[in-house]
Amino acid sequence: MTKATVRDLPDEALRGRRALVRVDFNVPLSAHGTVADDTRIRAALPTIAYLRERGARVILLSHLGRPKARPEPAFSLEPVARRLGDLLPDHAVCFVESTDTDEAIKATHVATNDVVMLENTRFLEGEETNDERLARTLAELGDLFVNDAFGAAHRAHASTEGVAHWCKPAVAGLLMERELEFLGRALEHPARPFVAVLGGAKISGKIDVIEHLLPRVDRLLIGGAMACTFFRAMGFETGRSLVEGDRVEMAKELVSRSGAALLLPSDAVVAPSLDSTRPPRSVPAAAIPRDEAMFDIGPETVASFCSAIAGARTVLWNGPMGVFEHPPFDAGTRAIAKAMAAATGSGATTIVGGGDSAAAVAEAGLAGAMSHVSTGGGASLEFLEGRVLPGVAALDDRA
Ligand code: ADP
Ligand code: MG
Repeated sequence: MTKATVRDLPDEALRGRRALVRVDFNVPLSAHGTVADDTRIRAALPTIAYLRERGARVILLSHLGRPKARPEPAFSLEPVARRLGDLLPDHAVCFVESTDTDEAIKATHVATNDVVMLENTRFLEGEETNDERLARTLAELGDLFVNDAFGAAHRAHASTEGVAHWCKPAVAGLLMERELEFLGRALEHPARPFVAVLGGAKISGKIDVIEHLLPRVDRLLIGGAMACTFFRAMGFETGRSLVEGDRVEMAKELVSRSGAALLLPSDAVVAPSLDSTRPPRSVPAAAIPRDEAMFDIGPETVASFCSAIAGARTVLWNGPMGVFEHPPFDAGTRAIAKAMAAATGSGATTIVGGGDSAAAVAEAGLAGAMSHVSTGGGASLEFLEGRVLPGVAALDDRA
């Protein structure tokens, strides 16, 4: 069932109304307490602009970090509100420091407050337990509810799920809509060939994604340390590589079931340790030395993965190909990012999901060259597992 979005609401439903918008402003802060990366704040600007242009007052709710149901100054959204104010020079952004909901409600009624940012929802008792009383109180902050926090939609919290039952209409924001559209279309009606690239450290965290993607994709390329568990399943020596011993049987079963759709690395970049001074070298996947570990996919694998990507019309990528935080083991990951950027240029739909993969793409300066980079790490993973995201499910169905 498709969910209603802000664009489904007539302008009269917005003019002069208080739009309660759940955003995901869970941004990294620097040591001195300023916003270190404002990507997530910028990602919510289109929804804020859309609502403001139609005369709605915007009331923002977000969590930040993991405070334990009480105010903790280190997790205050005050620096986030300040950055938001810088990004919205034409608007009066009012930050409500108090966690007293009556005071917050009062602030939402002040006509000169264009945008009201409330304090961290995780300071509130009942947020993470999705307490109904808190959800009803939060609902009083707005005349309609807009959920634009895709990155928090996999959690059934009072400000993501509960409130949507009490503040109506409850619709998706523009970012949420975009996320659901790109990820949803890839899973349901991908332009083919559809190639998925999976990597990262652990197969255990991604097994449900593999299961859900296998019947949908034309090729599944596997890199990262995850590949080593498959190597072990195939009887290869894996040396000191990260292998999940308790997943070897499962990997064996996946290899026999998926046939030609599954593409594993044919070579590996190995080193005795991450900070070994010896220059890294590549070896065939079946010849990883006993006292070394695979830290990246090798050049032959890069070539075959890139050619699969070049021939695809939909590419979905989750998880780096190597220890990309540690050059030179970022080469494989960078090559995939470049191949995807080129594929976008030739008309393919390219989607990146996953926190570390998104960071790698941003670092390579290629975020703008992808069709879509998901803002939700955990949420995109759960979506790709085929799970219903509670924050989405609670929104109104499109009429
Ligand atoms: P994402 O956040 O994109 O979903 P993951 O969190 O699953 O990605 O995986 C990212 C981590 O996987 C990175 O920290 C990276 O260093 C690690 N990784 C990738 N390949 C290897 C490898 N060969 N050996 C050890 N760690 C690896
Ligand atoms: Mg990660």
